[in-house]
Amino acid sequence: MKAAIITIGDEILLGQILDTNSHFIARELAKLGAETVQMRSVSDEKKAIWQAVDDAFAAADAVFVTGGLGPTKDDLTKTVLAEYFGTELVFNKQVYAWLEEMFAANPQRLNAYNKSQALLPKTCIPLRNLRGTASGMWFEKNGKVLVSLPGVPFETEYLFPAEVLPRLKTQFRDLLLQYRMAVVYHIPEAELAMKLAEYEKQLPDGISLAYLPAVGYVRLRLTAKGAAVEQLDTYWRGLRQALNGLSAEELHEEAAEDALIRQIAQSGATVACAESCTGGNIAHLITTVPGASAFFLGGVVAYSNEVKKRVLGVQPADLEKYGAVSEPVALQMAQGVRRLTGAQWAVATTGVAGPDGGTPQKPVGTVWIAVAGPQGARAEKFLFSHTRQRNIGRASVQALLLLLREMEKR
Ligand code: ATP
Ligand code: MG
Repeated sequence: MKAAIITIGDEILLGQILDTNSHFIARELAKLGAETVQMRSVSDEKKAIWQAVDDAFAAADAVFVTGGLGPTKDDLTKTVLAEYFGTELVFNKQVYAWLEEMFAANPQRLNAYNKSQALLPKTCIPLRNLRGTASGMWFEKNGKVLVSLPGVPFETEYLFPAEVLPRLKTQFRDLLLQYRMAVVYHIPEAELAMKLAEYEKQLPDGISLAYLPAVGYVRLRLTAKGAAVEQLDTYWRGLRQALNGLSAEELHEEAAEDALIRQIAQSGATVACAESCTGGNIAHLITTVPGASAFFLGGVVAYSNEVKKRVLGVQPADLEKYGAVSEPVALQMAQGVRRLTGAQWAVATTGVAGPDGGTPQKPVGTVWIAVAGPQGARAEKFLFSHTRQRNIGRASVQALLLLLREMEKR
């Protein structure tokens, strides 16, 4: 099933609010196995809405529209949709009864404004909204569907799973697609593609493999469409075989980082971390994965040189000579926290996260990462980007990757 999403509202185009409805709906549709082919935001104008709906219908089997359902004058969606589907707005008794029920405790609040919410295009099926006064609307035309939902995210987030998903499942049973995801670590995309070339060649029509590379890992998505959905599991097993010998994990709903941490956990070894530039982010990532207590002993955020020396036992002379962002300091941090916690493995980060503090020798984004284990320690230098948040994120993932790689060598 191909889907298109239209969000209506001048506020979106003015940058006053962020369009989270498209994100939410696309995610829900992906879980269902529908393929979103288009997202568009348009202003509160008849022409713009009409054009967007018309384009979306040409490209998709199902169109999802949010916004502009309120009783205020600027909310045009109902009028435009009524005209588009060649019908008119009529008083809907069912919807009015829902409104009465909603206002049962204080009927005086059911004023003319709210009452106008019972005016709906004659041919639509109203979708009951338990979180607001604007009902959703389900239209059908030549086997295609248009669903109109409120702009308020809290309301759409109720209506979509409660009223829309079940209807989509019935209407588009044969048009949905399914996928499974894997994450593969420590291999560049091109090398992975070579390794999987034979496997890819024998994929039948309706089954496809997509590469989604990130720093340090590649995510793979195996997608099956239409009748091929039945064969997804078979080809998934084939993919697992083709990945044999590589460090790979199935990804469910979680982030690639979480799957990475699960792999570290599976080794059965205990782990600790010493963090300077990542400021505790590695410990945070690890402890958000359920079951972390089984393998994660603890961490030290050693931000200042004093703490590096006093808590982790980094040699003052090395700090003086090489600076905090250096190989000897990273190594001593990892060894220090390993000693301190008694963990079998330890990882340490020290770097220039930015935006300040860079020098020509050590520009912003320079990070040393060290791993210490039963057989000694080693460190690697990385040069990431220029934004602080990204540097912290990438250094954290890279630290976990390096840790896993060293653990796998043994
Ligand atoms: P109401 O009955 O409140 O008028 P509505 O269906 O008319 O609802 P809008 O008036 O378009 O919806 O939007 C109501 C509010 O919902 C907006 O002020 C905005 O805060 C939020 N909103 C609208 N569209 C989106 C969107 N695409 N993503 C996130 N928030 C949105
Ligand atoms: Mg409104």
